Amino acid sequence: MKLLPTILANLINRPATRDYPTFVREPFENARGELVNDISRCIFCGLCARKCPSQCLRVDRDTGKAEGTWTLEFFACVGCGVCVAVCPVNCLAQKATHRPVALARAVISLRGPLPEKPAKMDRPDSIEKTAE
Ligand code: SF4
Ligand code: SF4
Repeated sequence: MKLLPTILANLINRPATRDYPTFVREPFENARGELVNDISRCIFCGLCARKCPSQCLRVDRDTGKAEGTWTLEFFACVGCGVCVAVCPVNCLAQKATHRPVALARAVISLRGPLPEKPAKMDRPDSIEKTAE
């Protein structure tokens, strides 16, 4: 009997949840959604990949072709924004909205030219110290 008011209220009231993705809520201010990279500005320093807590980023530099690849396994991204905060050239950003629903697991792989000067992490004096 104690639950009766709750049951009746639930029968009368509208659901508290939305039928996503049919009904998408307006994003909150400063919402951290889809991660995007302006690859033309990326210097492939690898800092985002090293700092990512879910290890869903990979940065490869193919010096033979003078190109780099930035890869995001977006199903593993938790949207924390750490990569955006540490990127030295501000080429990463998060949209307010989330990536559209996908039916298959996939990665995003972007290619761009390597900078003429080596990225900072290439120089031995700037490589982050590991436990000694
Ligand atoms: S931190 Fe920024 S510049 Fe460095 S590899 Fe990541 S996206 Fe590119
Ligand atoms: S938003 Fe967080 S989890 Fe997603 S790629 Fe960036 S650092 Fe990794």
